[in-house]
Amino acid sequence: MGLIIRSSSIHAAGCYTTAAIHKGARVVEYTGPRISKELADEKYQDSPTTYLFGVGDGEQVIDGHGTAMFINHSCHPNCETDEFDGRIWICATRDIAPGEELTYDYHLYDGDEDEARCNCGAASCRGTMYAPEEIKRRQRLARKEERKKHPRKHK
Ligand SMILES: [Zn+2]
Repeated sequence: MGLIIRSSSIHAAGCYTTAAIHKGARVVEYTGPRISKELADEKYQDSPTTYLFGVGDGEQVIDGHGTAMFINHSCHPNCETDEFDGRIWICATRDIAPGEELTYDYHLYDGDEDEARCNCGAASCRGTMYAPEEIKRRQRLARKEERKKHPRKHK
């Protein structure tokens, strides 16, 4: 399938298709060496950008290397990721026209302090690449911190 990497308005570089893609098609595999989550944390603890993809129960990650790692996040994407026999594929969720940028929803979780701001420009943009559940978890944490700083008096 004809995929090219070029500059993107979402993020530095993005992945574009030169050919029409049909809904449901497996577009590209998320390839790269598989390493443990511990090793990945160690390897990338000081790195602002990582291309890691959790597999199965999340104890293993794919250290992205190849075309798929350039696919940007969007809150209104045209692809999704699917696991087939332990391999991760980017699949089209609708028909995609030649020239379109490929995107999928990163659904980030387990984030550190980084706010992972989203620039996808979709009307339904969440403003962040975190999954909705992760946003809630972080809000709860923030409220907890706030209460610690400003304890309420109880009568
Ligand atoms: Zn967005």
